[in-house]
Amino acid sequence: EEPVYVFAETSYEEGAFSTFVPIMHGCNNFCSYCIVPYVRGREVSRPIEQILHELDVLAGHGVKEITLLGQNVNSYKGADGMNFQALLKTICRHLEQTNSPIEWIRFESSNPKDFSDELIEVIAQEKRVCTGLHIAVQHGSNSILKAMNRKYTREQYLLLVQKLRSRVPEIQLTTDIMLGFPGETEEDFEQAASLMKEVEFESAFMYYYNPREGTPAAKMQNQIPLEVKKERLQKIIDIQLGITRKVMEKQVGRNIRVLADIISRDNAKELLGKTEQNERIAFEAPVSLIGKFVQVHIDSLNGNTFKGSLVQ
Ligand code: SF4
Repeated sequence: EEPVYVFAETSYEEGAFSTFVPIMHGCNNFCSYCIVPYVRGREVSRPIEQILHELDVLAGHGVKEITLLGQNVNSYKGADGMNFQALLKTICRHLEQTNSPIEWIRFESSNPKDFSDELIEVIAQEKRVCTGLHIAVQHGSNSILKAMNRKYTREQYLLLVQKLRSRVPEIQLTTDIMLGFPGETEEDFEQAASLMKEVEFESAFMYYYNPREGTPAAKMQNQIPLEVKKERLQKIIDIQLGITRKVMEKQVGRNIRVLADIISRDNAKELLGKTEQNERIAFEAPVSLIGKFVQVHIDSLNGNTFKGSLVQ
């Protein structure tokens, strides 16, 4: 009756500057297409003491960036009613007090239905919490969202985006979107396309619906033919590629903080780094800067990667 899950003490990999930190396991949401609640079971939240202990271990290894991980991190429930926003604040205070090298905190996955105003406030106030956010929308049509059992509407998602952008203007959003869910009409598809255009996500994980045996959606009678699913997916990909280019081009000319990550595969004189918004940037720099935060000027855009130059 009380779900149990034993979290590993740490999932740190030798030499990593960025690492995942599991904070919960399982899911209670039962989206109608998803197998996770059946195979992983109900939500179990990791005790705060274990999370802070892992952060200390990671700090000892010089880790700079962590991603708090769970199927639905926003529904974290710790002892004494600690919710996700309280957990984030507690983590930030702990990192400050211990003078930790961990300067960037990300989290995934976030369910829009559990994304509270208090969480937006924490993102706005806490410098270590990164402003690149992934919030899966899955669809833009209310009837499909209902059939998916996502428990939010198009309007609620758009309101969330509006609140985030007005409180944290530098935020960049990415998403997941699924086309060809059973019963999806042309009109539903147009709703999905119009949501993508309205929000202007910086990038998106786009895919078509694939039935998973054992889920309610797999038993739905109104499955969409594969050719139609592929066609709709391609249309969304084409729309999103244009949006990605437009959103990223706006940033050319800025100076940004970058975590230098690895040597570029294309040019041994260049390093690849990551921005706070989780974009990739290539810039000429010595190997000794790998694992360090540096300032980089964005010179241009090459595909989905910025080209930049190190600011002294
Ligand atoms: S899609 Fe995400 S929120 Fe929905 S049931 Fe699966 S894991 Fe849970």
